[in-house]
Amino acid sequence: MSERIHNLSPGPAVLPLEVLEIVRENILNFSGSGLGVMELSHRGKEFRRIIDEANLTLRKLLNISDDYAVIYMTGGATNQFSAVPMNLLSEKTCGNYILSGVWAQKAIEEAKRLGRLHLAGSSKEQQYKCLPKDISLSNDAGYLHFTSNNTACGTQYLSEPECPANVPLVCDASSDLLCRPLDVKKYGIIYAGAQKNIGTSGVTLVIIRKDLLERIPENLPLLLDYRSYTNFESMVNTPPCLPIYILCETLKWVERSGGTAEMFKRNQEKATLLYDAIDSSEFYQGHAEPECRSLMNVTFGLHDTSLESKFL
Ligand code: PMP
Repeated sequence: MSERIHNLSPGPAVLPLEVLEIVRENILNFSGSGLGVMELSHRGKEFRRIIDEANLTLRKLLNISDDYAVIYMTGGATNQFSAVPMNLLSEKTCGNYILSGVWAQKAIEEAKRLGRLHLAGSSKEQQYKCLPKDISLSNDAGYLHFTSNNTACGTQYLSEPECPANVPLVCDASSDLLCRPLDVKKYGIIYAGAQKNIGTSGVTLVIIRKDLLERIPENLPLLLDYRSYTNFESMVNTPPCLPIYILCETLKWVERSGGTAEMFKRNQEKATLLYDAIDSSEFYQGHAEPECRSLMNVTFGLHDTSLESKFL
């Protein structure tokens, strides 16, 4: 397909051509069933196969143990900004947040509507050019929330922020999930809208440590309660079947390509190419501090800022 152009958007982002070709075939006729993938009943054996395969592949890719549930929700990462405090906070606990960029800020704004909050660290004063250095949690921390990759600012955590073992670490990994191997055991919840690194918009992946389900208050709205998904295998209502299918094919592509270790290698190579070009140029100016730079989103401006609008 020679007419395809470079897609530099962070999300919805480019999908592997191989995945698009497989999806194209199966939109018309899923695996020889005589029905397209969008027409399959979510209660039928074909869709069951898709969701089982997605689970299995993700569990293999990230080495996820049985202590964790994998669920598929809707409403994007933005819906998780509300779901996390609703499910994890009580009157006695406080949501702890690291403010490292615009998406962290949005998560904080939503959580503020729903419970008490503590700012555990911030790099706002540094225009989010770096990750917050000093993290201090409140004594009543119900969880510590951070954004692993700050999409718009171009900074990334390549290892987790320090967090006491009794405080669940909650991560918005929307723009870097599967970009590197991850030790899932360090996390209470990992969530990611799929449209950047793992598929297409419409489905949000949530990986949740099962013991956290016990602290969920009663009477949450059905579709915001994580238990609705863990109890009904993500089919409490009609799930986003096509996005789950595309997610499944993307996960299988990552696996065929060599898994997260290979993704990490490729991402390092790609990012080095770009940062080297920026650093050796008198025209471009990198935004993020070198030690915090993202492998996913390479952000830059121009040395001569007066030329920026013309450049764009
Ligand atoms: N978190 C991060 C890190 C993001 O990059 C984005 C989207 N750019 C969001 C959350 C919001 O995601 P959604 O549009 O899926 O709600």
